[in-house]
Amino acid sequence: MRCETCGAPAVLLQNACVFCRTPVPDSHAPGDLLDYLSGRLPSARVKRFGLGRRGPVRQLKLLVGEEPFEARIRQGRLVLTPDLPPARWVDRLLGALSAAAARDADLRSDLSRAGWKLR
Ligand SMILES: [Zn+2]
Repeated sequence: MRCETCGAPAVLLQNACVFCRTPVPDSHAPGDLLDYLSGRLPSARVKRFGLGRRGPVRQLKLLVGEEPFEARIRQGRLVLTPDLPPARWVDRLLGALSAAAARDADLRSDLSRAGWKLR
């Protein structure tokens, strides 16, 4: 399931899309979150499944300011650093990205292209 407004995998916080804050009726954390994030955050370091490293993303790492963020798939499960539920993790990531974007024009344009609402 995807957010109809910004096309993100539907990760909900208080019944709204955590990326663009559009209200969304249903809730589950999707496996393609990592692919979605890696497509919109060129500065993230990514490892992929599969030969030639062209498969789905299995690990994504990003240092935002001083704060490390990591998301990876282990045994079919999403493992997040910091250790938070997916919506809280994305919300914290977007909060950190928003703060960093104040000093970084490239990041600011990545975020506005993604359609995410800055915190
Ligand atoms: Zn959205």
